Amino acid sequence: MTLDDRRLPPLGVGDALTREAVLAWLREDDEARLEPLWRAADEARRRYVGDAVHLRGLAEISNYCVRGCTYCGIRGPNRALERYRMPAEAIVACAHKALEFGYGTLVMQSGEDYGIETGWLADVVARIKAETALAVTLSLGERPDEDLAAWRAAGADRYLLRFETSDERLYRRIHPDLPGRVSDRLAIIATLQELGYEAGTGIMVGIPGQTHASVADDIELFRDMDMDMIGIGPYLPHPATPLGREFEEHRARGDWPADQVPNRELATCKVVALTRLVRPDANLPATTALSLIDRESGRTHGLQRGANVVMPNLTPLEYRAKYEIYPEKAAVHETAEAINAGIVELLASLGRTVGAGAGGRRRGGDPSP
Ligand code: SAM
Repeated sequence: MTLDDRRLPPLGVGDALTREAVLAWLREDDEARLEPLWRAADEARRRYVGDAVHLRGLAEISNYCVRGCTYCGIRGPNRALERYRMPAEAIVACAHKALEFGYGTLVMQSGEDYGIETGWLADVVARIKAETALAVTLSLGERPDEDLAAWRAAGADRYLLRFETSDERLYRRIHPDLPGRVSDRLAIIATLQELGYEAGTGIMVGIPGQTHASVADDIELFRDMDMDMIGIGPYLPHPATPLGREFEEHRARGDWPADQVPNRELATCKVVALTRLVRPDANLPATTALSLIDRESGRTHGLQRGANVVMPNLTPLEYRAKYEIYPEKAAVHETAEAINAGIVELLASLGRTVGAGAGGRRRGGDPSP
């Protein structure tokens, strides 16, 4: 039997797509043979969440971080980085910019920064909710339940916390615990759901040591979790991190572990497409990391292979360069206006529309013919 005679398993939506099929599609690298996957994911995206692309304005409100995640450029031990915390006025100004651009959501993201005090952030959230009709999404790390409850009470609508990888051993290696506190992101996500947040999670694709089988497990976990949002981006090595250096050593020696998933555009798109199929009504962003790993077509392919959300960056330029979770994070010198114009133009060229309103998840997604 030649390679081309190998039959790929049938595609399907929801439980019709088995783990075995997911794994076979993940291991397929032939662009032509992947066409049916792209078509199926795009069709499921169209039927379940429609042609509208929801734009969520991103404000990177602090790069302080207590954690030592070995992949992330803003990890606490990176002493070379100048730290900032945006003042409340600057965050509220981002919210108004989001409104001006017609976005339905402001996403506030940061390192795990306890200088972001619970009450202070609750006031910022309450102020944005009072002054605008925006949905507010938070992505501030593994904060205690009381903080999550206080922010929800102040009006926060959504919270994003990626589990990064379902491989427990790999997770422990890349995401060290804080002293006396075991990191259990799945438990925090369950709490977020109990508190009434729309909850989001996600993974990085191509972490050194991450196998295709473990990504198939990640997708199984997406299937089992009732997630409203799932963010999937390639792992981008940062030279000032332990994992970035390990990546570089593997690359130089060409000695990748068996079944290693590459941190490529194609690999990431496969995960986005398969996730769309197993979780057809979830909101899936075409991530900034995907747009960076392939500047030409990363974002376009993301949107054509399952994604229905984009998160344009609204962080003022004076802070943006310091939020370098991976090198050359997109458009460090591009103003929010330029980024917005580029995305609007791209959507028009793809025959997609800009989503109106907050763009929350519509459960079940009203599949249309
Ligand atoms: N501190 C919060 C947390 O950990 O959830 C939010 C900010 S954190 C920088 C947001 C996401 O960035 C992480 O969940 C991770 O998936 C992604 N990220 C960090 N470093 C990355 C890298 N080098 N390559 C790709 N993604 C990265």
